[in-house]
Amino acid sequence: MYAFAIVPALALVAAVPLAWGWGLTWLDAGLALGMYVVSMLGVTVGFHRYFTHGSFKANRPLRIALAVAGSLAVQGPVRHWVADHRRHHAYADAEGDPHSPWRYGTSPAALVRGFWHAHMGWIFDRSLTDQRRFTPDLLADPDVDRVHRAFSLLTILSIFGPSVVGGLVTWSWWGAFTAFFWAGLVRVAVSHHVAWSTNSICHLVGERPWRARDRSTNVWLLAIPSMGESWHNLHHADPTSARHGVGRGEIDISAAVIRLFERVGWAHDARWPSEKRLTKLAVRPEPAAAD
Ligand SMILES: [Zn+2]
Ligand SMILES: [Zn+2]
Repeated sequence: MYAFAIVPALALVAAVPLAWGWGLTWLDAGLALGMYVVSMLGVTVGFHRYFTHGSFKANRPLRIALAVAGSLAVQGPVRHWVADHRRHHAYADAEGDPHSPWRYGTSPAALVRGFWHAHMGWIFDRSLTDQRRFTPDLLADPDVDRVHRAFSLLTILSIFGPSVVGGLVTWSWWGAFTAFFWAGLVRVAVSHHVAWSTNSICHLVGERPWRARDRSTNVWLLAIPSMGESWHNLHHADPTSARHGVGRGEIDISAAVIRLFERVGWAHDARWPSEKRLTKLAVRPEPAAAD
């Protein structure tokens, strides 16, 4: 499972020096990274922690910006994403979960099949989650509705926008093409696999230090690319928490961004985990200090 996460990443790293100088420039790399960070945070902070779980409150401009940024990740329109994800929490790793790697059983063959289903198979053979049941709050929001319906347009912008910038800056078709390739296609593909890994790897292998009713896990390897979402065991133990990486050294970039939004006054009432709550949620509570 780790190999699955590592091999494509290594292949990509190996391709970079080969292409550097003729098919990949600083501009392409900068555009790819910038688009990755904005769209990924749109999903983790916006679609996930804000729209799905209400882990903080946002003012109207931030709410709209988060819906737009998340749409740029090309993981589906905001209401579909939120409905699927609320269903995932309602039935995690049981009948009704749209993407559980345990769906076909616990034998090695069943788990290989389950892994693919949870990672990306579910996208191709799913029934659309009922939005009236799972997202009545978003259906009633005209701003969200507008962004939801602009999804196709935002997808085109996300994939072809970088090529316009690359073409104009280098004033060449080649510059437009390489920006399209790296900051459009490669960036979306990488972000898809990182996001899907939360559904597959983070319900299959890793640590389980928290009391969750399902098989969710913490996977440190994915913490930085997933913007903190791979502390998934804590997330299932405490879904509305604004912070998923709560342990020492558990980097959670999304939580840092929510904190930043609070500081500048765009967000408020974030649900930060208290020491007391974490002690309750820990599988083995810290023993009381002896004196
Ligand atoms: Zn999960
Ligand atoms: Zn969640």
